[in-house]
Amino acid sequence: MVAAMSKLHDARMKLRGELEAPPALRKFGEGWISGVLGLVLGLAGLLLVISLIAPGAFAIPETQNLRDNPWYRVGIHFVLIGAFALSTLSLVLRRDRTLGTCGVALTLFAALIGGSQATAQVSGRLPLFLGLDFFVLRILFTGFLFIPLERIFSHRGEQPIFREEWREDLFYYLVSSLMVQVLTFLTFLPAKSILAVAPLTGVRGWVAGLPVVVQFVAIMFLTDLVQYWVHRAFHKLPWLWKFHAVHHSARSMDWMAGARMHFLEILALRCTTVIPMYVLGFSPNVMNTYIFVVYLYSTFVHANLSWRLPVIEKILVTPRFHHWHHGIEEESIDVNFSIHFPLLDKLFGTYHLPKDRWPSEYGLQGHPVPLGYLKQFKYPFQGKPKTPPGEG
Ligand SMILES: [Zn+2]
Ligand SMILES: [Zn+2]
Repeated sequence: MVAAMSKLHDARMKLRGELEAPPALRKFGEGWISGVLGLVLGLAGLLLVISLIAPGAFAIPETQNLRDNPWYRVGIHFVLIGAFALSTLSLVLRRDRTLGTCGVALTLFAALIGGSQATAQVSGRLPLFLGLDFFVLRILFTGFLFIPLERIFSHRGEQPIFREEWREDLFYYLVSSLMVQVLTFLTFLPAKSILAVAPLTGVRGWVAGLPVVVQFVAIMFLTDLVQYWVHRAFHKLPWLWKFHAVHHSARSMDWMAGARMHFLEILALRCTTVIPMYVLGFSPNVMNTYIFVVYLYSTFVHANLSWRLPVIEKILVTPRFHHWHHGIEEESIDVNFSIHFPLLDKLFGTYHLPKDRWPSEYGLQGHPVPLGYLKQFKYPFQGKPKTPPGEG
């Protein structure tokens, strides 16, 4: 048993070593790109097959239409074929066979348990289900959109895809995707309770009757105004700061960094945006569009992108603007709280965007937040509340 555990540990370290390989071993033709792609697609394919076998436990109701569409299975089939082909290519090109072997093994296992033709073995929906398919689709969509952009237009060209603490940030993605049911339930429960007490029929009817574009713009401005002050409170109040310090502990900015957020802070942000939207009667389609836009936008502003965007920068939050919010230096403390519109920071005196400059480093002075998801989850509950940097 002990020997098996240590073997597993060695294999994991070897795989990690390969993913984090030095630049010379990641060059085109070294079998690294094909190996990583094969591994990612193999794992994605396997997890999607598992969600087909037990949809009641590992798939979200929102993907039902997608899963019923025959092209979805064709897509999974191509993911598995691609994974197998790329992993084989890596085995041919690369001296170290770890990536290729893992990719082939994952693909074969996915094929063995049914592949794209897998049928549901468990019928009905369990009371508590995990958004495993949501996690895979989210990572594939976001990764394939942002990784090429970050390679071509990187602000920090030397920062690899598998940079320091990438496993922690990926784990944040995993938890928030798996727990999507719990998050949605906890967000809508207070909203529904409010409506049960105060139905607000007149206001809701008026809001629902507005053109969808007007509804969308109104949501963007109203939630931004609320979130500006919620965000600022997280920076000012010592007991809230320890929750938000987790988000600020990220030392690298990229498409994964924004996912690092304490579970209770995610809940607080969702509640302060979704509850008013729901209670005021905005159309569900507009609300869903807003949630999708906010997700994409939050990924974008954390991304390792060098875009200057001089005109857009004046109206909308850009990566450089939000990177300044994450800067480690004195001048970065308590600036740029806006989520979408820098106008709010200008109005309330917290705007900071020095011409052509970027922060030198990211994170918090002295790096007080421990590493690892569980330690970071417990961090706000341990010890005394911490004085936020701007208050010291
Ligand atoms: Zn902040
Ligand atoms: Zn951030």
